[in-house]
Amino acid sequence: MPLEEVVPELPEVELTRRRLERELGGRRIERVEVRAPKLRLPIPLELSTELPGRSIRTVERRGKYLLFDCEGGWLIVHLGMTGFLHFLPEPPLPGKHDHFDIVFSGGPLLRFHDPRKFGTVLWTRDNPAGHPLLARIGPEPLTASFDGDYLFRVSRSRRVAVKLLIMNSEIVAGVGNIYANEALFRAAIRPDRHVSTLTLPECGRLATAIREVLQESINQGSTFRVAEDSVVYHPLEFAVYGRGKGSCSRCNGALEETRLGNRSTVFCPRCQK
Ligand SMILES: [Zn+2]
Repeated sequence: MPLEEVVPELPEVELTRRRLERELGGRRIERVEVRAPKLRLPIPLELSTELPGRSIRTVERRGKYLLFDCEGGWLIVHLGMTGFLHFLPEPPLPGKHDHFDIVFSGGPLLRFHDPRKFGTVLWTRDNPAGHPLLARIGPEPLTASFDGDYLFRVSRSRRVAVKLLIMNSEIVAGVGNIYANEALFRAAIRPDRHVSTLTLPECGRLATAIREVLQESINQGSTFRVAEDSVVYHPLEFAVYGRGKGSCSRCNGALEETRLGNRSTVFCPRCQK
């Protein structure tokens, strides 16, 4: 599996959020250590003065962004392609790709590891929902505001393949390549279908399938492997994703692999219409 295909998607970010909220909630920040001043964007200098003395209240999520409520300010983190946040009660010395530490009272720390440096760490004192990187993100797929009626409405005026529509974060938050492939298989819709041809029942089926594949993945939990040059988040079994040379679990026919928007796209030409 090429690296760009195993980036954390919504379930992995949500599982990270839950884990970190358990570990960090209520902890007081003592200091910040920045070893790589630039990830995808520069790490804000003010973190070193803003964070010490604050406690982390909650960890929230918007799309694939983690939002740390730090009492009057928000730390915003995107894991990018290979980012990983370790909570370390007894931290070892930092390695080559450990770019950033938040040190808590008593010594434990939160360490940001990111071999590819596509992650993002930001700071705001304002409501993070209004931050330029977050303001245009579409509805959360696991909330009631995302359903078939919504998908039907936003697909009428667009001229694009359905797989690209659901991977557009302005349409729906956090659905990447893996779960787009899986949801379309489950909804029995071809990834290259032009969205304006989708019927209302098909949009309903697709919205349900997206919710189901994401929720099932969260429920299963995802383990991960952190290596020197990569972090792999996806050990789960998939119906079509990564199985381009395999057979369909419904009809036993051969799956087809193609590229859409330059991303690997696997589907069953018999089951998906
Ligand atoms: Zn099939």
